[in-house]
Amino acid sequence: MARKVLVLEDESSIRGFIVINLTRAGYEVIESETGEEALEKLRDNPDIRVALLDIMLPGIDGFEVCRRIRATNTRIGIIMLTARSQEMDKVTGLMTGADDYVTKPFSPAELTARVDALFRRAGGAAPEQAGEIVQEPFLLNTRNRTLEKNGQRVKLTQVEYSIMKMFMENPGKALSREEILDTVWGRDYFGELKIVDVNIRRLRLKIEDNAQNPTFINTVWGYGYKWGF
Ligand code: CA
Repeated sequence: MARKVLVLEDESSIRGFIVINLTRAGYEVIESETGEEALEKLRDNPDIRVALLDIMLPGIDGFEVCRRIRATNTRIGIIMLTARSQEMDKVTGLMTGADDYVTKPFSPAELTARVDALFRRAGGAAPEQAGEIVQEPFLLNTRNRTLEKNGQRVKLTQVEYSIMKMFMENPGKALSREEILDTVWGRDYFGELKIVDVNIRRLRLKIEDNAQNPTFINTVWGYGYKWGF
């Protein structure tokens, strides 16, 4: 199934940022710089499922593009890219038929989450093999084994990464220290349970806003840890 997304944005730096992040999330991105070009590409690619439309453009603006798309296509998901200074954009955009809007500047995680949600609603499954687990403000990329918090890379050791993956795959679930040791270090590892605590302490320093008062990695007394918000 095609996972095609159209991006209409005249500013090349913003367009590039969107293209990189959606491509990394498993989408095929079709770019356009003007509304006219976007409409043409939509005609050529009827399998585009979601369109991201900037508003301020040379030529016809994003609202007009949205109106013209909606005149013939009710199925496609449309996200307007709005500027913070343009409060009314959101209302106008939704009035012209947009499904959602994202306010600039946005984080890669926010962008991908919005597109994924709309993609699901537009009838296509979000890319399973995208290799990303998104739990705001975290984005874990399981393909290149990296973690981002609020769009910023958090440098992790491979062990720390494995612990994060285990947590993010089990949100809200109490995980025993033995379970963490088995999963991360392997069943044949003859280390002490203490190594789990040491790594979690270090991980908290890296990912928590305040490691003394952790809100992401919670201690379950006498048992282990829980990834919980
Ligand atoms: Ca613009």
